[in-house]
Amino acid sequence: MLFGRNSKNPIKIVDKGVIEWKYTTCGYCSTGCSIEVGINGEGQAVSSRGVGGADVNRGKLCLKGIYGHELFKTEGRGKTPLVRNSCLEKYQETEWDPALDAMAERIKDIQDKHGRDAFAVVSTGQILTEEFYALGKLTRGAIGTNNYDGNTTLCMASAVSGYKRSFGADGPPGCYEDFEETDCLIAFGTNLPEQHPIIYWRLKEAMEKRKFPLIVVDPRVTMLAQFADMHLAIKPGTDVVLLNALAYVIIDENLADMDYITKHTNGMEEFQAVVEGYDPVSASKICGIDEDTIRHVARLYAKAGKAMSIWTMGINQSTHGSDGVVGINNLNLITGNIGKPGSTSMSITGQSNAMGTREWSSCSGLPGYRVLENADHRQEIADYWGIDPEFLPKQRGMFQTDIFPAIETGQIKGMWLIGTNPMTSMPNTARIRKTLEKLDFLVVQDAYEDVETTKYAHMFLPAAIWAEKNGCFTNTERRVNRVTNVSKPFAKSKPDLWIFSNLSKRFENGLKMKFSENAEDMFEEMKALSKGANRNLDISGMSYEKIEKSRGLQWPCREGEEKG
Ligand code: SF4
Repeated sequence: MLFGRNSKNPIKIVDKGVIEWKYTTCGYCSTGCSIEVGINGEGQAVSSRGVGGADVNRGKLCLKGIYGHELFKTEGRGKTPLVRNSCLEKYQETEWDPALDAMAERIKDIQDKHGRDAFAVVSTGQILTEEFYALGKLTRGAIGTNNYDGNTTLCMASAVSGYKRSFGADGPPGCYEDFEETDCLIAFGTNLPEQHPIIYWRLKEAMEKRKFPLIVVDPRVTMLAQFADMHLAIKPGTDVVLLNALAYVIIDENLADMDYITKHTNGMEEFQAVVEGYDPVSASKICGIDEDTIRHVARLYAKAGKAMSIWTMGINQSTHGSDGVVGINNLNLITGNIGKPGSTSMSITGQSNAMGTREWSSCSGLPGYRVLENADHRQEIADYWGIDPEFLPKQRGMFQTDIFPAIETGQIKGMWLIGTNPMTSMPNTARIRKTLEKLDFLVVQDAYEDVETTKYAHMFLPAAIWAEKNGCFTNTERRVNRVTNVSKPFAKSKPDLWIFSNLSKRFENGLKMKFSENAEDMFEEMKALSKGANRNLDISGMSYEKIEKSRGLQWPCREGEEKG
């Protein structure tokens, strides 16, 4: 309709004065889209666009990525370190050296009076992988507290635990390419169109090209549920019942892949004994899915040839999240759907670098999926860092959910929050507020000084955001991709790696360790620690140049290999 005009109005693309496009990885979610940020003549980020040759997003971005450049100048950014003696006083501005001197002194004072573990560290899934490695090195190797955890305990810990229970190791075994091969997909407790739009686009494109059934298990009528071929509106918290009932039908109707089970699994008899109690009639009364539907879905999945399952927080954020993950893994193991294209058990992570913290932060162990309980692992890391292995704890300390009650009982006196806000992520905000007020010393390190926890802190450290820094993220499909510093850190904020490195120099062990401020040096350390034929998380074949050129590389990528 031209409404009286004789010609169409031409589409006008606003000229934002971009003089250079800089490559990085989107920092919003775990999809890991390759993005280019447009920089104008004043060095400001003014535009964002998807990278065409990148396998993850193939030129596309969701709305969050399209407006990614606006993050650099958002309100509330921290400008300079702030200090005060009590949370009733006004903050005073200070410089980095006095702030870090004071922080180190307060930590040592608490540890001298109450023991090393009286100071807790709670981090995030947002910072770069090299920063996670550096934070682990600082916390485990220099500060020496065992009460160190990430906010990923509130979400991804179930997937980690479930993978370890089923396969003996963490790390999602699938990738987005599996959508292009699969013949049946069950999505548990996930709403991809809203939470992971580009993963959804990859799935939708695959479904349009090769029709295959999409079954959504979710108590809510989500957008994904509305697009599905079947929606199983399960009663909340009954996923394990449904999964065991599916397994019951598959075994009962001789649809299990016995050849695969014999070759690749153990414990089948015990598993059979467990699922015997979950016949579809009994299960339907608990999970709310009728017995015919249970039988139909079980047959569809087992007969597909290549079938896969994906899930997010609907499974993970539960009192029995780890059991749900094991149930999904079992479904795939008995149908022979692990370890071949289009067949997998893939947890989709939330935060942009939840995978990076799992791999390298040491919050549940030591770098590169090593564990504190293993003396050889402790020795290996202590030798590499140049410290006494006896300095490292022999078992994991408190989880984040135990740290807050330990503050209430006076066991923990000081805490450092890094890129995480328990005032919104933990349940019972009033209780968390009181808990924070009880601390003798609270440091908040965040890009935003108006984060609510700052009200209860004694010190605020302003951190640079995402693409003001240099390093890597690992996405949901184990793809390591480059984050580059397309813009300078805002005001006097500093990259988290700089903060960790400079704080380390204020501790005795920190002076013994090599602690570079350069992300690539840290990446080289991680590469050296990852090397080994028996290590899945092997990144020794990667380099910053190769990662950026390939628009991301998946691990394992062993020395000498071009592709992961
Ligand atoms: S899907 Fe996630 S990674 Fe991709 S552009 Fe959107 S927010 Fe960024």
